[in-house]
Amino acid sequence: MSDCEKLATCAFHKKYESIAASTIKRMIDMYCTGDNSEKCLRKQFIEKTGEDPPVSMMPNGIDAESGRKVDF
Ligand code: SF4
Repeated sequence: MSDCEKLATCAFHKKYESIAASTIKRMIDMYCTGDNSEKCLRKQFIEKTGEDPPVSMMPNGIDAESGRKVDF
């Protein structure tokens, strides 16, 4: 397992790393510090739009606040 190369600067990780909610923790374990960081939709958002995704957009593309998929 290796940490994502964006771990230190990622707004999502900074905001949510200390939140104990199981969904968030699972996302971080799966993507940010797990083996799936290359599948992170936040990275795809950046690649496609050239902009940073909403802070609350989880690596699976769902907004942690609204529960809705972030379109991009
Ligand atoms: S949310 Fe995505 S870009 Fe941010 S640290 Fe996790 S895997 Fe990396």
